[in-house]
Amino acid sequence: MNGVSGTEDMGEGTRAVRAGLPEARKHEPTLPGPVFAAHYHLPGEPTGPYAYGRDDNPTWTLLERAIGELEAPSGGTGTAEGPETVVFASGMAAISAVLLSHAQAGDTVVLPDDGYQALPLVREQLEAYGVEVRTAPTAGDAQLSVLDGAKLLWIETPSNPGLDVCDVRRLVAAAHAAGTLVAVDNTLATPLGQRPLALGADFAVASGTKGLTGHGDLLLGYVVCRDAESAARVRRWRKVVGAIPGPMEAWLAHRSLATLQLRAERQCANALAVALELKDFPEVSGLRYPGLPDDPSHPIAATQMHRFGSVLSFTLPDRAHAERFLAGLRIVDEATSFGAVRSSAERRGRWGGDAVPEGFVRFSAGAEDTADLVADVRRALAAAFH
Ligand SMILES: *Cc1c(COP(=O)(O)O)cnc(C)c1O
Repeated sequence: MNGVSGTEDMGEGTRAVRAGLPEARKHEPTLPGPVFAAHYHLPGEPTGPYAYGRDDNPTWTLLERAIGELEAPSGGTGTAEGPETVVFASGMAAISAVLLSHAQAGDTVVLPDDGYQALPLVREQLEAYGVEVRTAPTAGDAQLSVLDGAKLLWIETPSNPGLDVCDVRRLVAAAHAAGTLVAVDNTLATPLGQRPLALGADFAVASGTKGLTGHGDLLLGYVVCRDAESAARVRRWRKVVGAIPGPMEAWLAHRSLATLQLRAERQCANALAVALELKDFPEVSGLRYPGLPDDPSHPIAATQMHRFGSVLSFTLPDRAHAERFLAGLRIVDEATSFGAVRSSAERRGRWGGDAVPEGFVRFSAGAEDTADLVADVRRALAAAFH
């Protein structure tokens, strides 16, 4: 399925705008519109691919091809057809599909203890099914110390919201030597920031709700599987649970991929500019952005990431200062989630799920003009300390 667009050897901007497009046909649109179908004409013997809407949809097929081209452009690393992509209704649907279709009672799974806030819910579910779950922090490759005998290692790098980074190649080498599968949550980086399969992982998993689609108007998830048997399990899980994306969401996502490189370029530049601005404020502590040369994540991030993402985090003295800062921003929405073209920020402590200080702010840089965004942050900070 990979390389359909014939752009494997071209730049990432070219690959993004052409990702997953069907062959040009006279009088057909470049990207065919969403196919709304619960069932398809199917006389006689029921043969695939398109029979029933929970199993397959032509709009998903094109999107899966597009994501596969971005996550695994060279293909050929696993099966003859190359890695296989399966899209889901949300990032959590994709995460659950990998873990619950691969771990059985008696197996051990290793998760990060500082990952996405809904991972503890997955942990509870796995344990209820008799799976042993071990956790360790992302930083310092600490998951290495609890890997013994595990069926699957789950990595989230950079981690959300702490922005720690682990060495994917090193963890994969140790895991594979012991027959352990490795999945990487690539949500924060997006495939233009990091390609887990190229770093050796067996699965690249992500929420497409964030930077991948980047407009804050849809939920989506995907799994890219190196191996055909794993892909069959993940696909079967989607059929069993029915966590399928709507055709409209799938089509909007594909349409959004055309601007992924443009968005990533501006948003990452904006994140760095905001981080550099915050560095000079003595009241700001714990500033984290993997793209800052002196960030603890930078040395490893620089060896495995092509760009460092649109998210930064920092801590203001207390809850009141953080709330005044957020209220003072004019072109940054106070909202959760991240990766959208409109900047957003929030005090993570308000959810109670992450182990962060009361004044901890997660900031998602959008695609505004850099000077405007930096000026807004400067003004809001001044107001918070007035
Ligand atoms: C948002 C997020 C998810 C969950 O994605 P949904 O699309 O909201 O289900 C998973 N992992 C990370 C790192 C996320 O940021």
